[in-house]
Amino acid sequence: MQVRTRIAPSPTGYPHVGTLYMALFNYIFAKHHGGKFLLRIEDTDQKRSRPEYEIGTYESLKWIGLTWDEGPDVGGPYGPYRQSERTEIYRKTVYDLLRAGKAYKCFTTPEELAEMRLVAQKTGGRQGYDRRHRNLSQEEIEKFEAQGRSFVIRLKVPLTGEVVFEDAVKGRISAPCADIDDQVLLKSDAFPTYHLANVVDDVEMKISHVIRGDEWISSTPKHILIYEAFGFKPPTFVHMPLLLGMDGKKLSKRKNPTSAFFYKESGYLPEAFRNFLTLMGYSMPGDKEIYSLDEMIERFDLKRVGISGAVFDMKKLDWINQQYLINSIPENQLWPRIREWGFNDAFMGKLMPLIHTRIKTFGDFMDLCHFFFTNHLRYTQELLCPKGLKPETSASILQTLIWMLDDREDWSGTSLELCAKELADLFGVNFKKEIIPLLFGTFMASHFGPPLFDSFNLLGQHRGRARLLQAIEFLGGISSKRLKLLEEAYLSKNFSALCS
Ligand code: GLU
Repeated sequence: MQVRTRIAPSPTGYPHVGTLYMALFNYIFAKHHGGKFLLRIEDTDQKRSRPEYEIGTYESLKWIGLTWDEGPDVGGPYGPYRQSERTEIYRKTVYDLLRAGKAYKCFTTPEELAEMRLVAQKTGGRQGYDRRHRNLSQEEIEKFEAQGRSFVIRLKVPLTGEVVFEDAVKGRISAPCADIDDQVLLKSDAFPTYHLANVVDDVEMKISHVIRGDEWISSTPKHILIYEAFGFKPPTFVHMPLLLGMDGKKLSKRKNPTSAFFYKESGYLPEAFRNFLTLMGYSMPGDKEIYSLDEMIERFDLKRVGISGAVFDMKKLDWINQQYLINSIPENQLWPRIREWGFNDAFMGKLMPLIHTRIKTFGDFMDLCHFFFTNHLRYTQELLCPKGLKPETSASILQTLIWMLDDREDWSGTSLELCAKELADLFGVNFKKEIIPLLFGTFMASHFGPPLFDSFNLLGQHRGRARLLQAIEFLGGISSKRLKLLEEAYLSKNFSALCS
């Protein structure tokens, strides 16, 4: 059997470091066995998928030195490799299941589902769909269809028994069928669910090993049931330890910089970042910490994959980066590398117009622009609490700003300006005397600098977001209770209770 692995990201955001982490292990495993590594784009969430995120995925994988044997951009024998181009395949397979009596049309309305949830909550009964349309007669189905009611197609999950599988890292895992919902395979818009498309594609693309993060382990019994319904042999599953933040919780963009581009733009070396990511889920013999990709491919052994979560420790990352810097960049290459990173002509061409009339001597350049070239801003209370704003108010304003920019899906300077004005209104604070200095403080750790909104454009969304998070942390963070209140206030656009 040829080993075939895949990474199957959904292009709904900038490439997450977790995607690179999983891609690395899939790549290493495939290459160790002389097999193939595929890239499949899982863009079934039509509303949230964006072509620029797909391009970002390619870019970030290439940045750490990965290439794929088959994928949407390079083609291959089992394409197309983008799920939105495979909808006919999913529809056909689901209708095959329907005809075989292993799936059924469910006409339950959203209101009925909401009522079901409410009753289950009140009575403490089984959550989920109550299978009311599992055994409709042909006449009942025709009646619903004649009424033009929309429907989804659900899997007939066995009512008794257990789903059992052997995870290559975690061992035997089982789940009672009674706990598994009659899952939706085809949605009312005739698009497949993640579960269906994922399984059909893994079968069609002849994937031998599904290597993915622990967060998918609870979906695996559902997947096995789909394999069984089709009569396909499931692949070997390997669930890798989750990446955790320093607080021991799942690495999340709410608290940590998770975009691969943040690390690229902050000046990490791709080889070092790649090395660091592999260390997260794996230990080399002798606890060796610095090794090349080829070395890891050669010596890879599934038995050395960790079981529990791996802490994404920035200090460790910095140390590894430094080792690479010392050992792989000769002194005479250092300046060309630093120049290419942050002082290249393209960047300077954009920066010069912002500072031309603002410096008196060349010696003022760094005073004004240092914040573009550092990963360590020196925050002070005074910078982040202008006019005596309370630290918790500043933190709340910055958190709300993250939500606003995310909701707008626009992290440009123009968008920041609009949000800043809205924040002044919402929090009842002064735009010029409080909001603007707070933002100068957050992004530049300074009272002055080049124009704020244009500078934000140049700093970019990844470092911009990280600075917002760092400033919030410096201000003492936001308690979960306050975060909840803040979120409610944000959704209702009424911050009066928080502004006192
Ligand atoms: N589309 C899923 C993701 O975004 C794929 C999960 C899997 O590897 O099965 O990670």
